[in-house]
Amino acid sequence: MNSPDSLERVQRLITDQLSLPSPPAIAVQILNAVQREDVSLHDLARIISADPALTAKLLRVANSSFYALPHQITSIERALTVLGMNVIKNIALSFAIAGNLRGDEQTGFDFNYFWRRSVTSAIAAELLTTLLEQKNEDIFVTALLHDIGVLVIYLCKGEEYSNLFSERVTSGIPLVQLERQKFGFDHQLVGATLISAWGLPASISEPMRYHHERGDVPEEYKKTAEILSIAGRLSAIYNEKDSARQVRLLQKELTVMYNLQAEQVRELVDNVANETIEILKTFEIDPGDIRPFSQMLQEANEQLGQMNLSYEQLVLELKEAKEKAERLAGDLREANSRLKELVFRDGLTGLYNHRYFQEIFEKEVFRSQRYHSSLSLVMFDIDFFKKVNDTYGHPVGDLVLINIARTAAGAVRSNDVVSRYGGEEFAVILPETDQSGLRVFAERLRRSIEKMTTEAEGKKIKVTISVGGVTSVPEMTDITKKLLVDTADKALYASKENGRNRVTLLDPFLHIVD
Ligand code: GH3
Ligand code: MG
Ligand code: MG
Repeated sequence: MNSPDSLERVQRLITDQLSLPSPPAIAVQILNAVQREDVSLHDLARIISADPALTAKLLRVANSSFYALPHQITSIERALTVLGMNVIKNIALSFAIAGNLRGDEQTGFDFNYFWRRSVTSAIAAELLTTLLEQKNEDIFVTALLHDIGVLVIYLCKGEEYSNLFSERVTSGIPLVQLERQKFGFDHQLVGATLISAWGLPASISEPMRYHHERGDVPEEYKKTAEILSIAGRLSAIYNEKDSARQVRLLQKELTVMYNLQAEQVRELVDNVANETIEILKTFEIDPGDIRPFSQMLQEANEQLGQMNLSYEQLVLELKEAKEKAERLAGDLREANSRLKELVFRDGLTGLYNHRYFQEIFEKEVFRSQRYHSSLSLVMFDIDFFKKVNDTYGHPVGDLVLINIARTAAGAVRSNDVVSRYGGEEFAVILPETDQSGLRVFAERLRRSIEKMTTEAEGKKIKVTISVGGVTSVPEMTDITKKLLVDTADKALYASKENGRNRVTLLDPFLHIVD
């Protein structure tokens, strides 16, 4: 949202960064005239009639089905009397501005598309206002110009701005947000600034300032900003993809907002296309393949018919598509869990790695505290392992590590977690295991490694381990993961100091457990 206090600063920024186009001469004359209190229909008619092309367009619009007048109108003066000064002023302004602001078509910005969208919005806004029996004579020109800031920014920034359009598609971030990130202002603000600089009234510029963020709009412009936003979406039905879904959403929303029936919305949507096709010609804009929504629906149904798909066949295709999606999701789940395994496994031994140990042990400590259950931890380190490497070489050392891992993994229960804590140091988490269980396990482990032989290059290699262990005291509330690991480590080094190939158990107070 553009905050009001920074408005002045931002406006200066806009004038520094952008050169705002001046209004077309004829538009200036029309504006000056209507701002005079004593202006007569005759004065205004004279100004407009001085521009024959503009006059011709105006008369075409006045006679179009858009106004559905009973008699043909042949002069501007007559048009002014029948349709009112404001309406004619607005139509004249629309033509003058839309005709004037068309850049070089070579530049990559689709001016035809921009104005087609804008005209469709203007017609949608006018039709919606009429349907809702709201009175707003400026709505056509307001909607026509509501995105004019986009054009101005493009004319000044060129490619730098086009890049934002692609970024919007890839990132899904709304355009106004990207604009503010990049330039410090958005097209709502640029449009509103331009329009008020041109001397058009606040009733036109202010709703433009808020057409994307209606939450912030001042009360008096709320209705118009709302109409602008819906008109933009009605326009999108004919200028963007996904029209069926858009129509469905609008039907729901307009029912809630304005109590319109689905059928009324459908009719409105069709009318927008019908009127747009006619009016676009007057603006000399290529209507492309705009056609009423109901006609689009009918064509789609005919195409379906031509495809000769039975209902059963459609159901079958849906079912197949669903199964395919499920298979893909299954593959993805499997790939994810394999990836997770890789992240948590030690590459050499296949045991859980240090990271996994830390994560799982933390959880086990919490769990034992919450449920007052016992928890034991064993850490063990190979004795004189450096000598194995020195004597037989590193690859043989690796084989010993793998063998030890296999032996340790074979010695535990299914709930226990064996991990490679570091180079030749291992940790075993023993949930629900008290001191005597720990003692039994640690001794059994020590003995099985002692008995183990690793055969390599015709040699039989034997190693021993030094073991340290600790059992948490469930009643002690300040037991932490770190305390238990440190204690088990101390116990392990006590085993080393006392001659290796032995088990030392400590309690959390560092007392030796006999
Ligand atoms: P201590 O009984 O005091 O533990 O003596 P040590 O020789 O086992 O201890 P030290 O810490 O001096 O040496 C550990 C050796 O373990 C040195 C290191 O090269 C070896 N080592 C660590 N990781 C690996 C590995 O992945 N593969 C092999 N082959 N050796 C490793
Ligand atoms: Mg060692
Ligand atoms: Mg070591």
